[in-house]
Order: sequence, then C-alpha cells, then structure tokens
Amino acid sequence: MLIVQKYGGTSVANVDRIKAVAERVTKAVKAGHRVAVVVSAMAGETDKLIDLAHQVSSNPSEREMDLLLSSGERITSALTAMAIEELGHKAMALTGRQMGIITDTVHTKARIEKITSERAKKALDEDYVIVVAGFQGITEDSDVTTLGRGGSDLSAVAIASALDADVCEIYTDVDGVYTTDPNIVPEAKKLDKISYEEMLELASLGAKVLQTRSVEFAMKYNVPVVVRSSFNYNPGTLVAKEDKDMEDVAVSGVAYDKHQAKITVMGVPDRPGIAAKLFKGIADSNIVVDMIVQNISSDGKSDISFTVPKTDSKKALKMTEDMAKELNAKAVDLREDIAKISIVGVGMRTHSGVAARMFETLAKHGVNIMMISTSEIKVSCVIDSKYTELAVRVLHDAFGLTKEKG
Ligand code: ADP
Ligand code: ASP
Ligand code: MG
Repeated sequence: MLIVQKYGGTSVANVDRIKAVAERVTKAVKAGHRVAVVVSAMAGETDKLIDLAHQVSSNPSEREMDLLLSSGERITSALTAMAIEELGHKAMALTGRQMGIITDTVHTKARIEKITSERAKKALDEDYVIVVAGFQGITEDSDVTTLGRGGSDLSAVAIASALDADVCEIYTDVDGVYTTDPNIVPEAKKLDKISYEEMLELASLGAKVLQTRSVEFAMKYNVPVVVRSSFNYNPGTLVAKEDKDMEDVAVSGVAYDKHQAKITVMGVPDRPGIAAKLFKGIADSNIVVDMIVQNISSDGKSDISFTVPKTDSKKALKMTEDMAKELNAKAVDLREDIAKISIVGVGMRTHSGVAARMFETLAKHGVNIMMISTSEIKVSCVIDSKYTELAVRVLHDAFGLTKEKG
C-alpha cells in the first residue's frame, strides 16, 4: 500500500515525539508499505512566529508572513527525515516547493492549483520515505505561500490524491473524530465512521480536528481519510462516503464556534433593496457573513442581525454604521460575547422533530436563542457565549451521544 501519514503539531512537539513518529513510520515501512509523511510545525511554533512578526511590525506584509510561517514546517520535516534515517531507512525531506505544490497568489490562505509530484514519486520508487513540510506551497513566480491555519491537513489530503495513495492517515492528539470535542465533554464517543458531508459541516462549524478545506478536498477527490492518535495504536475514525447505516441516528455530532460576532442594525426602513445594499457593501470588503436574521416590526421598520468572523468585526461595524446613516436606520449594535452551537447529522433528512428537540433542550436549561439557521443536515443556534459548554453538554445528552458509564 501507499500510505500518507500526516502528523500534527502535538505529534512532533519535541525531539522525543519526533523520534516516536520516526518509529511509527518505520513500522509501516517494515510492514511493506510505501510511506509519504506530511508534518506540521512543532505545537505552538506557528503562533510564536506570528507573535514575532507583530513585535517588529504593526502590519506585516502577507508575502513576508508566509515566508516566515513556512519555516516551522521546514524544521520538523528535516528533523523527522533525520530521525527516520537514524533508524536505518532512507528518508528525504521535501519543502512545499520540492513537493511541487503550486498555489494561487492569495498569501496566508492560498489554494492549491496543482501538484507536480514526479520527484516525490521517483523518490518513493527508490524506497525513500518522503517527509513533506505541510501548510506550504509556491506560486508560479516562486513566492512561498501558506494554506490557512490548520493547512497541513490540506497538504496531506492533496498529496494523497496526487500520489493516488490508498489512505491518508491524520495523526493527532485524540483517538479520532468524536461526537463533540472530547476536551470539552469527556463523555464524548469516538465515531468509527463519519461521512464526508457530516465531517465537512462539523469542521466548518468549529470542530478543528480537520481543517475544513481538507475535508472539501477529500470529498471532491474521494480520498479515504482516517483520523487517529499518534500516542497509541487505537483504530481511529474513517471519513468516507455516506452509507445506509449512517442515517440510523438523527444527530452524529455537536460543534461550537466562539469566533463569530453579531451585528444588529435597528429600525431599518422595510423596502426592497435595503438588505442588498447593506450586504453588498460588506461583501465588497471581503468579509464573510454567516447567519442573517430579519424581523419586521409593526411600525413598518425592520431589524437586521448578522454574524461575521470576530477578526473582521470592527471593520464590519464601521461599514454598517456608515450604511446605517445612509439608510436612516435607528442604531447599530455589536456583540462579541456570542457562540454558535450546531448539531449535525445526515439522519436529519429522515428523522423529524430534531430542531424542536434542540430548542426545547436549550430552553429547559435557560439558554436563550438569538439566531437560528438550518440546512438539510444541520441546525445552528447563536447563544450567549457564557453558556457554550453547558449547551454542548446538554445537547450531547439530549441526542443520546453520551457514552454509557461502566
Ligand atoms: P493537530 O495539531 O494534530 O492538527 P488540532 O489541535 O488541530 O490537532 O486538532 C485536534 C483537536 O481538535 C483535539 O485536541 C480536540 O480538542 C479538537 N476537536 C474539536 N472537536 C472535535 C471532535 N468532534 N472530535 C475530535 N477532536 C475535536
Ligand atoms: N502549523 C500550521 C498551523 O498551526 C499548520 C498546521 O499545523 O496544520 O496552523
Ligand atoms: Mg490541526
């Protein structure tokens, strides 16, 4: 088999962890497999580099930022290759460029356009283990780019697809994908299998165990992904195409996201074109709006609330205030102490009353719902962020996801 193994930050956090990774890779080689390894930077390293940049500049250029951030993964790829050689196997470290990962020019969140993998294939044919620096690529003009936070997951899935690997294993610090973040709810259950669609929803709704774009890519190119721990040999979770028994349960997982803020424009005239104008302005400044709710009051005015990433909230507030003046709106309000809680499951297509049960459960625990949005396989509610952990816990219980004791 040809296996891609991706090791996240905690799995290569120090010299001992890197040696342990080398041992695991060597085991797979001894079992007769060809192995392409993808590594993240040591845990905390990328944040440290970002912090350094902000110490020398109030507004570091994104091109230079990418060059800086890509260095974390170069270090771990070289060290991991050396550790594998120390165990007696041929290993070759490759940067994003040497792996042929060609991206567009959108620095700090570049998209992979193609992978020219001839060199990597030749090395694998010559019995090298290749160890690729994750999270990075290169533009046609040879500028270094990075793929967005958590981007080594995307590197791994894309390399697995380019090499036509049999499986892409994502090694992390938990045993697989759980019904919710096991660090928040210790009673969460590990899933043996989850569909691409559900995983995509969970990831984009806040579960950081896989980067959203990596799941999108895996789904599009049908790459089988297994999430498992680098700290033990437990089996992990298979992320793959939906099958019949996945529909048996209504809800497969609960996710939360504390990185959104809510803006409300009050007393907007209720006439055609107002929402178009407001959201066009925000979209033009590259801010992604997530949920939108509009209420019409009896005096013919409306309130419009929407959520944006917290990192863009000040910019969005300013834009909205300018727009509010133009539209003769009464007031604008920003709230950053909110969280989005979501339940996800392909079983929602065939089970009724799922949303109602979610609302009832939150109400029973005194949690007020500020906004609601739904799709075929998810329901999300915006609530006060101080209730995040409580809400995750009670929903997890209400949908029968909690592990039985004993
Ligand atoms: P890595 O550094 O290996 O890429 P991450 O920190 O990016 O690891 O992702 C693993 C973390 O994702 C876990 O430690 C866990 O806290 C978090 N997580 C959130 N939701 C889930 C979930 N549903 N299942 C598993 N882990 C989750
Ligand atoms: N080191 C990068 C980050 O911290 C990429 C990754 O770990 O996947 O975001
Ligand atoms: Mg990660």
